[in-house]
Amino acid sequence: MTTKTFQIAVLAGDGIGPEVMAEARRVLAAIEAKFALTFSFTEARVGGIAIDVDGKALPEETIRVCEASDAILFGSVGGPKWESLPPNEQPERAALLPIRKHFGLFANLRPAVCFPQLTHASPVRADLVAGGFNILCVRELTGGLYFGQPKYSREENGDTIAVDTMVYKRSEIERIAHVAFKAAQGRDKRLTSVDKANVLENSVLWRRTMNELAKQYPDVQLSHLYVDNAAMQLIKNPKGFDVIVAENLFGDILSDEMAMITGSLGMLPSASLGLKETPLGRFGLFEPSGGTAPDIAGKGIANPIAQILSAAMMLRYSLGEPAAAAAIDAAVKVVIERGLRTGDIHSEGTQRVGTREMGEAIAAAI
Ligand code: NAD
Repeated sequence: MTTKTFQIAVLAGDGIGPEVMAEARRVLAAIEAKFALTFSFTEARVGGIAIDVDGKALPEETIRVCEASDAILFGSVGGPKWESLPPNEQPERAALLPIRKHFGLFANLRPAVCFPQLTHASPVRADLVAGGFNILCVRELTGGLYFGQPKYSREENGDTIAVDTMVYKRSEIERIAHVAFKAAQGRDKRLTSVDKANVLENSVLWRRTMNELAKQYPDVQLSHLYVDNAAMQLIKNPKGFDVIVAENLFGDILSDEMAMITGSLGMLPSASLGLKETPLGRFGLFEPSGGTAPDIAGKGIANPIAQILSAAMMLRYSLGEPAAAAAIDAAVKVVIERGLRTGDIHSEGTQRVGTREMGEAIAAAI
């Protein structure tokens, strides 16, 4: 049997990053054995560790390694040691934003999955989350209010005025829409587009473009919600959603709300997909939704599942290996069903394990 080889840039970063990354690699090794794939990993420094060793959060060598790879598997960056640096030099801002820009990472995919066995961790009333839920948020990442020009703050006529500009081009909306419709095709085929079309010109264009593109995806059922209503419906009926697509600011807020209602940050992966398309998918960066968890770093107790599921997203969205991705998702499900829990998701009657034991159990279940 011939094996396919993929080049993977491994940017573990700081805090729990290296601990959980080791477990994602363990699981990928189990995938190699089963699916006739080979992963060639190249490690590179990013974040605080890169500031300490190379003098900057995103060294050129790291960019070079990423450019030569099929995908980037990212841990997380930052921590108390670097918090007193000027904002522009801090690990998150000085590493992640430039990577997003360099690779044109315009589509942020954040699944919010609440397993039936973990609904007790959700802050939402038990009857509303009974049986769990599984939502995918597709957020536009490079446009809108965060980047629109002009953007300034200045003194004017004895007052201070601050200006941010919300700009979207049809082409930007179209490309994120295609990502969202295609993601919905691979799931329950329901797409909710979020906007504020009763107030914002941007949203009128957003809604019109979504409706036009829907004709290319007749198998997907498209609906629209105003963002304020979407925020409410997520709490009231999270089980009612499949895929949500939103512009940058709305997606930023809603994806955090979605993460919070699952109650398990250590379980949530994310993907940021770029402009570069290959026959297998899009170049992308795959990372846990959470941060470096300095409070538990170095103790061997962090939950590696977010990092492991990030590797599954990499297989699905960048490497064109959906069967291998599904095998990881299934192995995580099996291990949760068997009652293994890291501290963050532990409850009475389940078995508390460390980072490594959790990784080993998932690798063994592949
Ligand atoms: P955090 O996500 O690191 O931690 C929040 C809480 O969740 C903590 O109690 C932590 O222990 C827990 N947690 C997070 N991931 C976990 C896991 N895998 N297993 C078990 N528990 C987990 O957020 P924070 O405390 O606000 O930030 C800490 C540092 O991480 C800061 O320096 C921040 O800038 C950075 N950060 C980085 C990223 C990134 O790299 N993308 C994202 C968010 C925060």
